[in-house]
Amino acid sequence: MDESEEKSNITFWRKRTRIGITTGIIVLLLSLIFYFTSKSSNYFQEVLIETVALIPILLISSYLIFNLDVRYRKVKARYGMYVRNSISYLYIVVPFWIISGADILSFGRSYLALIYMNVILSTALVGIAINIRVKVWKRNSKDIGSTNIVNGANEIAGKMGVKISGYRVVDWSKSRIANAFQAGITHYYIFVTNFLMENLSEEEEVAIMAHEIAHAKMKHLKKTLVFVGLCTFTIGNALFSLIVYILNYGLRIGMLFGLVFSIFITSYLLLPILRRRYEKEADIVAARYTSPGLLADSLLKLSKLNHTPVSVPRYWNLSHPSTSDRVGYLIEMQRKTNHP
Ligand SMILES: [Zn+2]
Repeated sequence: MDESEEKSNITFWRKRTRIGITTGIIVLLLSLIFYFTSKSSNYFQEVLIETVALIPILLISSYLIFNLDVRYRKVKARYGMYVRNSISYLYIVVPFWIISGADILSFGRSYLALIYMNVILSTALVGIAINIRVKVWKRNSKDIGSTNIVNGANEIAGKMGVKISGYRVVDWSKSRIANAFQAGITHYYIFVTNFLMENLSEEEEVAIMAHEIAHAKMKHLKKTLVFVGLCTFTIGNALFSLIVYILNYGLRIGMLFGLVFSIFITSYLLLPILRRRYEKEADIVAARYTSPGLLADSLLKLSKLNHTPVSVPRYWNLSHPSTSDRVGYLIEMQRKTNHP
C-alpha cells in the first residue's frame, strides 16, 4: 500500500471516527440529563421525550457517515441502512432507562437496588451468550460453495482438533466490507462476507479462515464472556458498595457507577487488551497451520479492500492490533521457520 493511499485512508477513518465519537458523547450527555432530571411520576413521558430528541441526532449522524462512505469507499448501501445501524446508539441510552426504572422500583432500599443491579448484569450477560445476531446471520447466509475452500478449512480444523458446524457467506456487498468472524460458543460457525470471497484467492480465504478456526480452537469467545462477567460483577458491586455504603452518595449515583461504569470500564478499557491478545494468539496459531507469509499477505489485502490504514492508531480499532503489527510478527515468524 503506498503512502498517499495510507494517508487518505487515515484521514477518512479519522473523520468517520470523529462523527461516531461526537454522536456517542451527545447521546451520553442526553442520557445523563435524562437520568438525573427525570421524576418517577413522569418516567414514561421522559423516555418518550428523550426518544424524540434522539431521532434528529441519529438522522444527522447517519447522514454524515453515509455521505463519507459513499464518497470515499464507494458503498452502494442506502441511507436507510445507516439509519438502521445507528440504532446501536441505543446501547448507550437504554441502560439509563433500565437503571432509572430500577432506581424508582427500589423505593430507596439499597439492598433492592443491589439485587436489581445484579439481575440486570446477569440478564445482559445471558443476552450476550445467546447472541440472537448469530441466528440472523445464519438465516441470512449461504454455505460456502467452493469445495476447495471448505475442504481446506476442514483439514485445518481437523488438525487443530476443533469441529466447525458451518462455513457461511453473508452478503454485505452493499457496504463493501471484507471481513470474516467466528460466532457461537458451543457450536462454532465461521462467517465470511461475499466482498471478501470475491476479492481474495482461495488460498488466502483459507488462511483467513484458519485465523477464525483458531479463535474457535482457543475458545476465545467463551473466555471473553467469562472475563466480561467477572469484571462487570466485581467492578459493579465494588463501585456500588463504595458509593452507596461508604461515601453515602445515594442510590441514583450508586447504580449509575455500578452498572454503566462497570460496563464502560470493562468494554472500553479492559476488554480491548484481552481481545488484542486473542487476535495475536489466533494469528500465530493459524500461521502454524497455514503459512505466516500467506496470512500476512491476506491481512494486508483486507486492509486495502476495507480502506483501513495499515498502521491504525490504537483508539480507532481497539479490539485488533494494527495490521502493521500483525504483519510484523508474522514476518518474524516466517523468518524463523525459514532459518531455524
Ligand atoms: Zn480474529
